[in-house]
Amino acid sequence: MTDKIYDLIVIGAGHAGCEAALAAARMGCQTLLASLHLDTIGLMSCNPAVGGIGKGQLVKEVDALGGEMGRAVDACGIQFKTLNASKGPAVWSSRAQVDRKEYSLYMQDATAKQKNLKVIEAEVVGLIVKDNRIEGVETKQGQRILAKTVIITPGTFLNGLIHIGRRSFPGGRLEEQDISRKLSPSLRNLGLKIQRFSTCTSARLDGKTIDFSSMQIQEGDQPPKAFSLSTKKSARRFLNLKQIPCYITYTDEKTHQIIRRNLKHSAFLGGKIAGPSVRYCPSFEEKIINFPHHPRHQIFLEPEGRNTDEYYPNGLFTNMSEKVQEEFIHAIPGLEDVKINRFGYGIEHDVVEATQLYPTLETKRIKNLYLAGQINGTTGYEEAASQGLIAGINAALRVKGKAPFILDRSTSYIGVLIDDLITKGTPEPYRMFTSRVEYRLILREDNADLRLRKFGYEFGLVNKKDYQVTQEKQRQIQSGITSLKTVSQVVRRTDPNSIGEVYPGGKKITLYQLLKRPQVKIEDLKRHLPFRASPEVLHGIEVEVKYSGFIKRQLAEVQSFQHLEKIKIPEDIDYNAVNGLSREIKEKLTKFKPMTLGQANRISGVTPTAIMILMVYLKKRGG
Ligand code: FAD
Repeated sequence: MTDKIYDLIVIGAGHAGCEAALAAARMGCQTLLASLHLDTIGLMSCNPAVGGIGKGQLVKEVDALGGEMGRAVDACGIQFKTLNASKGPAVWSSRAQVDRKEYSLYMQDATAKQKNLKVIEAEVVGLIVKDNRIEGVETKQGQRILAKTVIITPGTFLNGLIHIGRRSFPGGRLEEQDISRKLSPSLRNLGLKIQRFSTCTSARLDGKTIDFSSMQIQEGDQPPKAFSLSTKKSARRFLNLKQIPCYITYTDEKTHQIIRRNLKHSAFLGGKIAGPSVRYCPSFEEKIINFPHHPRHQIFLEPEGRNTDEYYPNGLFTNMSEKVQEEFIHAIPGLEDVKINRFGYGIEHDVVEATQLYPTLETKRIKNLYLAGQINGTTGYEEAASQGLIAGINAALRVKGKAPFILDRSTSYIGVLIDDLITKGTPEPYRMFTSRVEYRLILREDNADLRLRKFGYEFGLVNKKDYQVTQEKQRQIQSGITSLKTVSQVVRRTDPNSIGEVYPGGKKITLYQLLKRPQVKIEDLKRHLPFRASPEVLHGIEVEVKYSGFIKRQLAEVQSFQHLEKIKIPEDIDYNAVNGLSREIKEKLTKFKPMTLGQANRISGVTPTAIMILMVYLKKRGG
């Protein structure tokens, strides 16, 4: 046993583990990060990309709070795009292709250099628990290491079982066949309920053997937009970034027939995999079964990095045998002669039912033990990083004896993600989408800094200078809106800036009113503006003005939401003593242990009447 008692031990150095360890160490906690392998820290198991619809928002929020993912993406990105750009700003989502190798090296470097953080190569095989409180971990090498708090982030390694066709073998990733076999029974022994989920990934292809000539090319946005608020406008790498394109090809009936003929060779459809798969990233064979009327499916060929010829065919996730993969991949236009470097595979792994967690991601059963990432039933790097950051911050706050940090649904995508997981649970792998977010017009990518930077600053994860930049942006948006209300403009048919409107004789209106018109952009008014501002500030003004009606309505909804959210339910409440609640509702409330009336309201089956009864009960109790 080592004498030292760490403030925090983080098990696993994937996307959740790195954020958790970096945050806690930056908050001054003596932190230990244990990883099965040092050279796979921050490795991307699946596609070489970060962000996307709903996920870009998560990364922006992680960044605003002072997390690492956005900075890492900017340092290692090879193509940047805003998705949904033709739609409203509520759903704009950033996405970047990332150099997989560089990203892992970046995270290895960031964790190795971080003050207060020690990184070790070790497999954690057991948890030291006393009186329902975590006290440390045991490693395979026989060490007992003590800590005040522990965060578990083992990803797909938790009892992982890899499937390729009808063949299966233990593994956390194809290249890493050592798995976290002992951790799962330890969690079960502590009384935590475990589920089994599955996911799959695509083959990796040799780009030198791909015929790109028949494919559509997909370039990045020009100029590329940084993910992180810390990536300075003048960053040389960004300004001179040579982006690498993706390519698009389509499958056709020939490929689909090969799949239909070989369904028995799919581990998933052949019934070998027990756990539900990712509904929104189905395997190619599931697509063929579920969408028989689709004559073709789009496949994106994504570069794996700047100094490699390897490509990732996004859309071809599969559990099929190597032989079938050879056959159907070679039937796809442009891939007729492709060399397959590595085959796709499916993976089944354990997850812990997330309803057993508080919104801080601490387990309800074991004090000071937190879970983050894929272990909580999510899929995706961004979902993992978000949870890792929240768990890391909360573990550090616990060590310092400070109040927990809880983001609710009205503040952030991260709040929605965690609230969904802990109040509703998830019967299948959970992926973030904009449609899960009720208040998405006020929770935009572009205002993640205005919403969350203050917390990052308060925790010491954002420096004063960076926080002042956010404060200044806020000030400029507010003063910009005010001055638009005071400056008038005469709009005439002949006015080059009349933006297509016809006013016989001319009409005087404020720039504010003008900007509210759907067809008028702030860009069109630029020469009339009584102030100068950055594109970010102008965008902020434009959204606030154009959507002011909707925003006002959402803010009112948020207020009534927050009313219930503010009513705390004491931890020691005995629901059996609350008259008027049905037995079923009492059981659910006892099981889920909601912390607020708002959370109780979102548990399926808990009725508005039950909430009223609870409210009256809490009032009587003096709440
Ligand atoms: P990971 O990134 O998996 O990191 C876990 C870390 O924990 C690893 O570093 C491992 O070495 C370490 N570890 C495990 N056990 C121990 C232990 N006992 N002691 C010490 N260290 C330990 N995401 C999508 O969004 N869409 C997809 O379609 C998709 N498909 C996938 C397909 C496959 C085959 C795989 C493997 C992953 C896929 N992913 C997909 C998921 C994505 O990789 C994960 O969601 C994400 O990496 C989870 O992050 P994490 O931090 O929870 O875990």
